[in-house]
Amino acid sequence: MTSTASISHTFFDIPKTVADLRGVYDSERTRPVEWRRSQLRALERMMRENEAAITDAVAADLGRPRSDVYITDIAPVVAEASFAYKRVHRWMRTRYTGLPASAMPGIARYVYEPLGVVLVIGPWNYPFYLTVGPLVAALAAGNCVAIKPSEHAPRSSRLLVELVGKYLDNDAVTVVEGGPDVTQELIDEGVDHVFFTGGTEVGRLIMQAAARHLTPVTLELGGKSPVVVMPDADLEVAARRIAWMKFINSGQTCVAPDYVLAHREVRDALVERIIETIPKFRQGEPSDLKIVNSRQFERLRGALEASGGTVVCGGRADADRVRMEPTVVLDPERDSPLMTDEIFGPILPVCTIDDLDGAIRHIKRGPKPLAMSMFGGSARDRRRIERSTSSGGIVFNHVAMHCLVPQLPFGGVGASGIGSYHGKWGFEQLSHRKALLHKPTWPDPAIMYPPYTDKKLALFRRFL
Ligand code: NAD
Repeated sequence: MTSTASISHTFFDIPKTVADLRGVYDSERTRPVEWRRSQLRALERMMRENEAAITDAVAADLGRPRSDVYITDIAPVVAEASFAYKRVHRWMRTRYTGLPASAMPGIARYVYEPLGVVLVIGPWNYPFYLTVGPLVAALAAGNCVAIKPSEHAPRSSRLLVELVGKYLDNDAVTVVEGGPDVTQELIDEGVDHVFFTGGTEVGRLIMQAAARHLTPVTLELGGKSPVVVMPDADLEVAARRIAWMKFINSGQTCVAPDYVLAHREVRDALVERIIETIPKFRQGEPSDLKIVNSRQFERLRGALEASGGTVVCGGRADADRVRMEPTVVLDPERDSPLMTDEIFGPILPVCTIDDLDGAIRHIKRGPKPLAMSMFGGSARDRRRIERSTSSGGIVFNHVAMHCLVPQLPFGGVGASGIGSYHGKWGFEQLSHRKALLHKPTWPDPAIMYPPYTDKKLALFRRFL
């Protein structure tokens, strides 16, 4: 049994870890559906039975309200694992397919083959959801897995080492702690797939490192996710949903509304309702929100100061406590950092638009978002925004909820990511679709073989 629980990553033998995982993979132990299902069940139990410890660790790392942790880091993972457990047998089935006349006779099918050793690299913002979530997909697909959690959520990272050591097949799944150097070393061992969740710039570095070994990557990145609010939107509901998802986890959520594009007719009424909603959601908690570290705090404070907009709510930032008030900024300058860079913090810019075309023009000027939302609008408006913009996904009349639907692929496009997961999409992403064609030895027509006379070529042209 390989357990990293007691080993400092400084002395961690990365080549041996990857070689051991590869050995287990080669033994074919992770292939049978029984192994996959046993791991998914164990993973579900791991999350359920350790709710208190997971909550403590995430709260300590991120200063998050304890109730949030269940909703964001525990329940969605349990749901994913249970969804995969019930369906993995079906997902693994061999698929038979037809043949074109030119390839007959024969039997064609394809099978889902695991990739081998998958490296899961996680961010700090949802330290369980974004490491154990991809683990569900990797296990369902029958892979061995090395997880590299973020060094910026150390209590969660340590707990993950302990829990994986206790609940899962430790010869096939291991957790390696450390920072960028450890991640690069793991990639340099030539794993079979890298599943990365994190920032776009680091994503580029991951892809560069993986390219040296031609290792395929899944990149779950960030970006600026807009919310469009049309004049006929239900403003009460829009304000509640926007404020909820924007300020949960201090705005440090990849699918949180980054900014709002509100129609001129309803902008002020919407902002008023968002401002009324914020304190209602903070009852029993400090009014300001914890930022993960001073570096992120200074970045956010700098972006707010340089925004050129009007702060209509919040705005106070306490460097000693590394906390910032939930903040709403009206019409920041479009070329200020608040509007050009991903915010990833509790600042909500609200920009004025005159019509849907204006919103679409604004969105299309930037990189493709990870998520988008639109409140209100006609069926025609919805079709228009769907066709005229490109993003990882769109939610109408809510924000970010598509990531809780395992039947939908979750992932970005362009600068917001490569590949997708959740449910069967994750299984597909971390499997290889292997083509198998079985031909009889008879017939074996001479026309297939050289020399290719004019007569043979004429026949080819007719039948192929
Ligand atoms: P990050 O990119 O800084 O770090 C992610 C992981 O990469 C960590 O494990 C870190 O140790 C590692 N890493 C950092 N620098 C590296 C380097 N030079 N070489 C190799 N590995 C390196 O991301 P973060 O700050 O932890 O998370 C915030 C970002 O993640 C935001 O941009 C957010 O939008 C994005 N995100 C995306 C999703 C999604 O599902 N698409 C989910 C959550 C967060």
